[in-house]
Amino acid sequence: MDTTEILALGLGVAPPWQLVDQHLDTGKKPHVLEIRLEADRGALFPCPECKALCKAHDFKEFTWRHLNFFQHHCYITARVPRTNCPEHGIKRMAVPWAREGSGFTLLFEQAALMLVREMPVLAAARFTEVTDKRLWRIIEHYVSKALSGLDLSCLKAVAFDETASKKGHNYVTIFLDLDRKRRAVVFATPGKGKDTVKAFKAFLEEHGGKHERILEVVCDMSPAFLAAVSENFKNATQTVDWFHVVQLFNTAVDDVRKAEGKQTKMPDATRWAVLKARDGGKLSDKQIAALAELEAGDFLTAQAWRLKEKLRWVRAAETKQGARWRLSHFLRHAREKISNNPVFEKLKKAVDTVEKHQNRILERWTSTHNNARMEALNGIFKAARARARGYRNVGTFITMIYLIAAPLGDMFKST
Ligand SMILES: [Zn+2]
Repeated sequence: MDTTEILALGLGVAPPWQLVDQHLDTGKKPHVLEIRLEADRGALFPCPECKALCKAHDFKEFTWRHLNFFQHHCYITARVPRTNCPEHGIKRMAVPWAREGSGFTLLFEQAALMLVREMPVLAAARFTEVTDKRLWRIIEHYVSKALSGLDLSCLKAVAFDETASKKGHNYVTIFLDLDRKRRAVVFATPGKGKDTVKAFKAFLEEHGGKHERILEVVCDMSPAFLAAVSENFKNATQTVDWFHVVQLFNTAVDDVRKAEGKQTKMPDATRWAVLKARDGGKLSDKQIAALAELEAGDFLTAQAWRLKEKLRWVRAAETKQGARWRLSHFLRHAREKISNNPVFEKLKKAVDTVEKHQNRILERWTSTHNNARMEALNGIFKAARARARGYRNVGTFITMIYLIAAPLGDMFKST
């Protein structure tokens, strides 16, 4: 077996194609292995439409970047015929090693996709020595192709939440299938608010789903979201995630701290101490001291913090009935503790919001879906931001979220 035969075998070249030439160009840096494929002389080629074997009308030369041959770049060049089908006319034949319009072989694209699932696109671009722009084009092609085949006909419970691709900018709203344990992202769209819910409904119905089959929607307490859910998914129970209740109170306690800080000198390390949990032992000595100081000094921030911590007791209720009792007790207690001092303004608002949505919050206790997935979303956002580092536009961020967290299946089946 000579080297040409070995290479042909490695490339999986099959008739009518054969490997006719290969040579290592050492004049280029890095060195380039150039491989030339040619179709058998006088061969017939399948029409891309009907597969009928036809004569070649003419040929055009194309070159594709292939997987590296050891440390050397490798390119495949071939003259690709246009078939002349009596029924379909003159068409460019598809080659088995690359998809139409791509300057890369399928194997190269597959390797590139594997890399960008594991490392930032910039790093993958450096590693493969391909411009990041071309790499993004590969990713976008496969992600959108796989998404177009997404089947949402069984979807019945979704959760959604928004995040920013950049601090405070470029919002993206992500929808999760609550019945999927892994790769649960089924839709991601720019923006936040009610239009995103409408966009999801349209996407769902384009992918075999039905809006009336959605029985549960989990989201935060934003009035715009909740109104949009009632409007677009009329059979769905609305559940407010506990995660959002805690988040609301964390922010409120921090607002109390800021407001009080304007009036009085606060102990050092207060900020993080009040945001962190009492249990779990994660507080630093300084933070423990700050909390003790807050308590001892009877700061308003300490009162707000104690109230927030009481939420754990509500959450620990085992039944919906128990939770209802604890939540109303919590609300009553909160009203008693919160004086008219303007420092408490945001905390008071948080209590009002929870009171208003208590039935949706209590749905958590009868929902068959747990909280963990919403929290896992934050991990996905973080990973997507890291992988798309350097490309902070909404489009690349969304593509990356799909790539790492959507059920895209085997993306190469769709080629
Ligand atoms: Zn044809």
